[in-house]
Amino acid sequence: MVQSQWPYWLPLREDLRNISPYGAPQIEGVIALNTNENPFPLPQEVVAAMSERLSSVIADLNRYPDREATGLRTKLAHYISLTTGVEVSTENIWAANGSNEILQTLFLACGGGETLALGFTPSYSVHPLIAQITKTPWFAGSRDEDFRIDIAKAKKLIREKSPQLVFITTPNNPSGSSTSISDLKELAEATGSIGGLLIVDEAYAEFSDEPSAVTLLADFPHVVVVRTMSKAFAFAGARAGYLVAKPAVVHAARVTRLPYHLSALTQVAAETALEFAPAMQSEIELLIAERERVANAIVEVGFRVVPSSANFLLFSGFTGETGAIWQSFLDRGILIRDIGLRGFLRVTIGTPAENEQFIAALREIAE
Ligand SMILES: *Cc1c(COP(=O)(O)O)cnc(C)c1O
Repeated sequence: MVQSQWPYWLPLREDLRNISPYGAPQIEGVIALNTNENPFPLPQEVVAAMSERLSSVIADLNRYPDREATGLRTKLAHYISLTTGVEVSTENIWAANGSNEILQTLFLACGGGETLALGFTPSYSVHPLIAQITKTPWFAGSRDEDFRIDIAKAKKLIREKSPQLVFITTPNNPSGSSTSISDLKELAEATGSIGGLLIVDEAYAEFSDEPSAVTLLADFPHVVVVRTMSKAFAFAGARAGYLVAKPAVVHAARVTRLPYHLSALTQVAAETALEFAPAMQSEIELLIAERERVANAIVEVGFRVVPSSANFLLFSGFTGETGAIWQSFLDRGILIRDIGLRGFLRVTIGTPAENEQFIAALREIAE
């Protein structure tokens, strides 16, 4: 809907009248390589265990869920301690319906009004979107041609603008490029010196070899790491995301979350998924190998690809309009992502068979 179509009787906020709802096309009957999901269904043993656990809570759905999601947060703390080597506890974790809700909770707690939020684009477009919805002014810093952040420039920008919220997505979406932990440390120092919060969105961390920003928490209390179970964990449909931070940040999140925001079903499903973490993530190695295979195929047809530490690839070098190339893939039954960056398209790594079909379409289109 655009502005002129809003009915006269709807007192919609003036500043929201021209915003389109966020979302990629959801199209039936195509190979969907457009939203960075893990393409593999849950393993049978997990389906069985989850079904059993879910049916045991259904009779209790007359009651509100645990407002604090303590069981789930304890399991997330264990998972983070195990995978990052940093000992964290339940009080360092907050969980919500996807990391998008975590981001919104943070914006509601620390944004709004005079607060400035800073990001480095192109990056995850939901950050500025939630900024706008929560009336938080957003400043878009830039990345270089390789989609890397120039750290000296970034530090200068942080000192000049004094943003209360600084967003870094690493590995970055849509480029797949990483910010090194030493660069993050410099950004944490700069953000700390002006009294801001450094929010590191690690939605794709499990696909990357770079140490997590969780390792910075001991020295930098103002670092917040945002994670999701939607990508590597193959759990996008369940909606489970979380943050790792100092307990004060968790307390702040409690103030702005909605009461009973995380359903009993979600809590139990996510707890079960975490108990089966190795099984849930068993395809990560294969997806990384497939990423390299697809990247090589893209280069072989004469296109360019950005080196990626995630489960997707950003490519360029095609001739013709970006939208037309996107349509050429769709005409061949492959749905990829036009992220609004002229000359670039993003493809999620699928199953080997899906990737094969993507490569076949790629070869035809490149001819
Ligand atoms: C996919 C994605 C998310 C959102 O994940 P949900 O947990 O499904 O809400 C957050 N940040 C980035 C960078 C993403 O790509």
